[in-house]
Amino acid sequence: MSKIQNFDLSSLIRSNILNINPYSSARYEFSEINNNKYIYLDANENSFGAPLCFKNSYNRYPDPLQEKLKQKISKIKKIPVRNIFLGNGSDEIIDLLYRIFSRPEIDNSIIFPPTYGMYEIIGNIHGINVIKIPLIKENYQLNLIKLKSVINKYSKIIFICTPNNPTGNDIKKEYIEEILNTFHGIVVLDEAYIDFSSEESFSKKISKYPNLIILQTLSKSWGLAGIRIGIGIASKEIIKLMNKIKYPYNISMLSQKIAIESLENKNIFLNHLKSIIKERTNIIKSLKKISFIKKVYPSSTNFILVKINHSSKNLYRYLINNNIIVRDRSKIILCNNCIRITIGTHEENKYLINKIKKYII
Ligand SMILES: *Cc1c(COP(=O)(O)O)cnc(C)c1O
Repeated sequence: MSKIQNFDLSSLIRSNILNINPYSSARYEFSEINNNKYIYLDANENSFGAPLCFKNSYNRYPDPLQEKLKQKISKIKKIPVRNIFLGNGSDEIIDLLYRIFSRPEIDNSIIFPPTYGMYEIIGNIHGINVIKIPLIKENYQLNLIKLKSVINKYSKIIFICTPNNPTGNDIKKEYIEEILNTFHGIVVLDEAYIDFSSEESFSKKISKYPNLIILQTLSKSWGLAGIRIGIGIASKEIIKLMNKIKYPYNISMLSQKIAIESLENKNIFLNHLKSIIKERTNIIKSLKKISFIKKVYPSSTNFILVKINHSSKNLYRYLINNNIIVRDRSKIILCNNCIRITIGTHEENKYLINKIKKYII
């Protein structure tokens, strides 16, 4: 295990992306907004405003690089602004990374199922061969031996989700480091659930690993799935590439505003986080007492994977009939007869456990 030698970012970038002369938007060229000193006649906005009865500035284009929001995120996550990219959800960032690094019909990416579905779907949209190396059945960890046997010169991106969705476990830090130290392509570490885990984020290690890109999101622990903000953390060179090819105004003014406001309420965030983790412990304890539940997997996330002794589909339908919607994962590799349950509020969880207890096979 040696530290990655002479990692060459530019050799990984598709030539069309390398050669693009990016679009320069009006608000990028003149970014000082909402300053009464200026008359803005540069972006074909409607100076009369939106037909709304309250004062607003929605007639203006949003900040293309989301400086104010990035400063808030920078302060909370203790990562410099230049190492942060914001996307319209993590999914936009995954899409941009495929565009930057992966040549359609030529390159491949590597994923470890069962995992988040979008790595494969977005890869397929781009005509990329997505190679699947199933997690080890017993502990849902990475199969490094198999990984080594499939990596070739066309392997551009490896996606690792930790804690993993839908299994809920952390991927061993040593395995991640091993890949970071030896793979000459890009390693995407999806930390969407990291705030629920007791493991430390890799976000402080981007200067050590030039091939590392971390994905985080405001959708889960921050409770902001509706405003679509994904966070990319990487070297400033990689961030620059993403900024070069993103749509100019990819995050709406409303989303930026709501995110800034939420990040100012860190105490509420921490309280919710604490409650979710406490509820998680309680639900796991209750589920383990139920006879037809074969296994409750340990969780470092805000959901729990549960294996049933018989058809999980029947339990899934029973819960729907009782107005509770969980996710049936039984069709997914290594998740036979499994359902995934998101942690709800205390009342919701109590109701859920009561209904499951009354379930008759
Ligand atoms: C929910 C989730 C995300 C979040 O995606 P957004 O587009 O930011 O909402 C990312 N990765 C994983 C593994 C997830 O489960």
